[in-house]
Amino acid sequence: MTNGRLLEHGAGTLHTVQNLIGGRYIPGHEGTIEDVEPATGRALAVIPRSNQPDVEEAVEAAKLAFPAWSATPVEERARMLERIAGLVEARAEELAEMEARDTGKPIRLARTVDIPRAVRNLRFFAGAVRHDETGFHAMDDAINYTLRKPVGVVGLITPWNLPLYLLTWKVAPALATGNTIVAKPSELTPLTADALGRLAQEAGLPDGVLNIVHGYGPEAGQPLVEHPDVKAISFTGGTVTGRHVAATAAPMFKKTSLELGGKNPTLVFSDADLDAALAGTVRAGFTNQGQVCLCGSRVLVEEGLYDEFVDLLVKRVRAMRVGDPLDPRTELGALISPAHREKVEGYLKAARDDGGEVLCGGERPELGDAHKDGAFLTPAVVTGLDQDARCIQEEIFGPVVTVQPFKDEAEAVRLANGVRYGLAASVWTRDLQRAHRVSAALDTGMVWVNTWLHRDLRVPFGGMKDSGVGREGGRWSLEFFSEARNVCVKLD
Ligand code: NAP
Repeated sequence: MTNGRLLEHGAGTLHTVQNLIGGRYIPGHEGTIEDVEPATGRALAVIPRSNQPDVEEAVEAAKLAFPAWSATPVEERARMLERIAGLVEARAEELAEMEARDTGKPIRLARTVDIPRAVRNLRFFAGAVRHDETGFHAMDDAINYTLRKPVGVVGLITPWNLPLYLLTWKVAPALATGNTIVAKPSELTPLTADALGRLAQEAGLPDGVLNIVHGYGPEAGQPLVEHPDVKAISFTGGTVTGRHVAATAAPMFKKTSLELGGKNPTLVFSDADLDAALAGTVRAGFTNQGQVCLCGSRVLVEEGLYDEFVDLLVKRVRAMRVGDPLDPRTELGALISPAHREKVEGYLKAARDDGGEVLCGGERPELGDAHKDGAFLTPAVVTGLDQDARCIQEEIFGPVVTVQPFKDEAEAVRLANGVRYGLAASVWTRDLQRAHRVSAALDTGMVWVNTWLHRDLRVPFGGMKDSGVGREGGRWSLEFFSEARNVCVKLD
């Protein structure tokens, strides 16, 4: 089945995606949705518009597959993940092109980040589950040990910004710990999820262990969260949707992991290595057109350095190459959709209304006929906003950074913490003591010092405040996808 290309798309033909349920590819009960290429505005594929009956079938298939998969030895499950990783790696170039076309992201990013990271996710959790340890607690007259059991059927809901990267980040630990899955990828970016299903089948993953249901969030995601036989929901997406998912799942006492939005600060102190801080600020601000939950969209710069930093930043941002995602020289591709671009443009208007100045960007570039309907926007730098401005407080999720000056360390921390989000931060300084002090004072789940998005898959990943509940990564993922059971044995 996977001998041919994973994306069948040519003149006049649309790739057809179907749901993967119990090892079979089947259409949805309720028609289809067009999957549009953000860089051209043209339809790329049709996917099922699934709803409750499709989700019911997928959950039934996952329930049927659960006893055998959960009883499969850990070593075999780990080997299965490695086989899938190998097949993803073997098709890396094809998958990178597919991801770039489906999301609008530069192919260079898909080649260097999205697809290699998907492979790493699968291999990492194959290793992690092999080396996993559980607790042992001795008492004077008894011993305790902890058993870990898979949770059951789990629901995985993922967004459009890093489709395969985030799906494998959940699929790998869920499979490693013996769960069976119903996944609902974003309907905007279904293609690599479909490809993953095919490659998992080719690797020999038993039918029903990984089921994929495509469709809109409220129609296909909601019934998955509501389903009484789905015992855990791992959700990555926006804060508003996350709140809804939490409210639905809570009365059923489901395990939920919520990885939500961010409004992450980049703090630049005047003693920082200027060149490294500038490069880091640009990378944090504009990777994937600013559509990464971890993007450093609020730049805070110490007063003495502020003017020089802003000048240099604007020069670098103006020089960024916006264009065809499939051109390897492209640094910024298209936003996910014209509607999302309008939302980002609305924020730039709000910035001006709030007294801010857009120093560069925010324009629709001329990229020729092939891309005239693409959702492109030039990267923008905004200054002059107060802390309560919408562009400072709300997640824009686009190629826009704001820059604010700060007087001293205390003000830097106050501004950094002065939003409802708390996902990540990066701190640029050569002062080691300050780096530790500021990192400890920031209300974020993750802090990078003199770097950004430098990932060790063993560390806790997740946010505080409105950025989410729970942590993913290493043992946190293994714990989420399993139930701990203590066994206490009385000694004579
Ligand atoms: P979203 O609109 O919240 O959607 C996320 C997923 O939830 C999609 O698959 C969506 O389906 C589905 N969904 C929507 N309504 C649902 C419902 N009622 N029940 C169940 N599922 C539902 O987020 P997005 O716009 O795709 O992604 C961008 C957001 O994700 C940003 O806020 C970003 O910060 C966040 N994000 C967070 C992390 C992190 O690790 N913290 C990582 C990446 C992204 P549809 O596509 O059909 O709406």
